[in-house]
Amino acid sequence: METGRRMKAAVVKETSPGERRVALVPDAVAKLAPAGIDVLVESGAGDGAWLSDAAYADAGASIVSAAEIYRTADVILTVTRPGAVGELRAGQAVIGMLAPLADPEYAAALAARGVTVISLDGLPRTLSRAQPMDALTSQSNVAGYKAVLVAAGEFGRFFPLLITAAGTARPAKVLVLGTGVAGLQAIGTARRLGAVVSGYDIRPTSKDEVTSLGATFLELTSVGSAAGEGGYARELTAEERQAQQEELTGHIARQDVVITTAQVPGRKPPLLVTEDAIKAMAPGSVIVDMAASALGGNVTGSVPGQTTVTGNGVTIVGAENLAATVPTAASNAYSRNISAMLLHLTSGGALAIDTSDEIQAGVVIAHDGRVVHEGVASLLKPVEGDPGVDGTAN
Ligand code: NAD
Repeated sequence: METGRRMKAAVVKETSPGERRVALVPDAVAKLAPAGIDVLVESGAGDGAWLSDAAYADAGASIVSAAEIYRTADVILTVTRPGAVGELRAGQAVIGMLAPLADPEYAAALAARGVTVISLDGLPRTLSRAQPMDALTSQSNVAGYKAVLVAAGEFGRFFPLLITAAGTARPAKVLVLGTGVAGLQAIGTARRLGAVVSGYDIRPTSKDEVTSLGATFLELTSVGSAAGEGGYARELTAEERQAQQEELTGHIARQDVVITTAQVPGRKPPLLVTEDAIKAMAPGSVIVDMAASALGGNVTGSVPGQTTVTGNGVTIVGAENLAATVPTAASNAYSRNISAMLLHLTSGGALAIDTSDEIQAGVVIAHDGRVVHEGVASLLKPVEGDPGVDGTAN
């Protein structure tokens, strides 16, 4: 429907520490225009990803201040969270990766201000028409690639087999634990660097994906399948966990490099590499824990953003926001994801919120002053006589 109405979609400069990505790249500007979407860009928003204000202006965007964005934009596009909640106003929408399940109170605070909250991390990922919008996948791909480069950077030897006049270097042995999106990309990257790679996952369906990349699939005899809902893993029982850790220890001891990526939605990451396993590794070995978090990670002692060397000479890297350290590639991919989402939500130059659509039901967190996403609403403390879906309830 051609209404002549135009939407102002604005790109803000990210404010999280170390965040170098930007929500939209200049290429996207011309693709949004036919849908009635004009793009405003906060001056300097693309600097961290080597995208200048001039490149955005040449593509047809208006370069403005943050204050103008918060005053005039209809939709604010972000990678993580936009500035302070108080800067957003009723009727405005925010689209980003806002982690509402990890912090439902933030969504509630925005809902209370009348802000529409749309979070790409709620996308129903197995739906094929949602795949162009799948930012979790695009950013995991970037992070999985970078994890291998970080490991190679810390490792004191070569990854490939090298035969030179000065001698022969054997290839590094790399084990990837958790072979979802990031793990498979790590396997592919380590293979390209010439390492001998194996992979392990608790979902048996990942075996074919691992072997098709030329890696060996590690089969554990002590623990069976733990496939859960929607292609994700389920949490292991305490007995399964212990059996898995013990059996993995023997395999980990033989590796030069271990990269861990294991996650279970809504749970703390499973511990896969125990203190005993680390002690059994040779000096000079490297572990990169992509699941490192404030709640703990896949590796005993890993701390996000920190690299430590154990008493027996094993380097443990607690990875933190690796996608932001490959900012141009990550932003290019994210820009395609968020553009596809914005186009999906836009009709006649305005957002058309309709949570009967399966994609929207996953990503629309707050609208019309209420937290409308059931999963997020159920995490908010209900007040008496209130079912708990009102974002203003607490
Ligand atoms: P994730 O980040 O939630 O977890 C990473 C991996 O850790 C997963 O493969 C998981 O099985 C594994 N894991 C969890 N607990 C483990 C344990 N105790 N031991 C070993 N491994 C463990 O996963 P993800 O990368 O987001 O992907 C999850 C699934 O979603 C995969 O099956 C992926 O193929 C699927 N997916 C499908 C689509 C699609 O259909 N378009 C898109 C994206 C992802």
